[in-house]
Amino acid sequence: MQAFDLHLHTKIFSDCSFIEPAELIQRAVQLGLRGIALTEHGVRWPDEKFDELRRLADPHGLILINGQEILASSPRNGMEGEFLVFGVRKSMVGSFSAGELVERVHGEGGIVIAAHPYKLSRGGKHHYYGAGNLIYELSLDALELCHPGHNERAMAKVRKAMEDLGLPGTGSSDAHKVFEVGSFVTLFANEIRGEEDFIREIRRGRIEARKNPFNP
Ligand SMILES: [Zn+2]
Ligand SMILES: [Zn+2]
Repeated sequence: MQAFDLHLHTKIFSDCSFIEPAELIQRAVQLGLRGIALTEHGVRWPDEKFDELRRLADPHGLILINGQEILASSPRNGMEGEFLVFGVRKSMVGSFSAGELVERVHGEGGIVIAAHPYKLSRGGKHHYYGAGNLIYELSLDALELCHPGHNERAMAKVRKAMEDLGLPGTGSSDAHKVFEVGSFVTLFANEIRGEEDFIREIRRGRIEARKNPFNP
């Protein structure tokens, strides 16, 4: 089994993060992760800059995946939650409803994972930071199950949706501080050598979400 933390923010592109990319890589190697995915808010790392990170990770055999976390909204619903996008070559700029986002990503051969779908919001008129029950109306590829913002109740809702929709669940730390890295992970049953394997295995559901794998 190969563990990936597939939802991470660095201070380079996410203002809310305190993580330096070099220390992120160092920490991931130290923990024995097979790979990590960067999912900055609304930004995909430019390829050249990402290649610099790869040069830091490669000697350790750590796989890096370049993704992004996109906030969807529509005139009908307002905020429609956040989504992890992989396999799209550029930052997804502009305004998308969740449905439009999924359609567009699939059109480009990528996958969409509902980020923390049942993470509660701290008030306001929106119940969740994630998509909530809207996940039932979308053709998603996976649902984030193990996430620091998901309590047992939220996880039960995700498990139910996974069953109803026939979707796999992912685990990720959504780390904004380096000590959080690897607190939740996704285990892949098969060897992952890069983005192609990563996307295919998630799509086929040959993954398993884990909580606190290094500190059970
Ligand atoms: Zn988020
Ligand atoms: Zn995030």
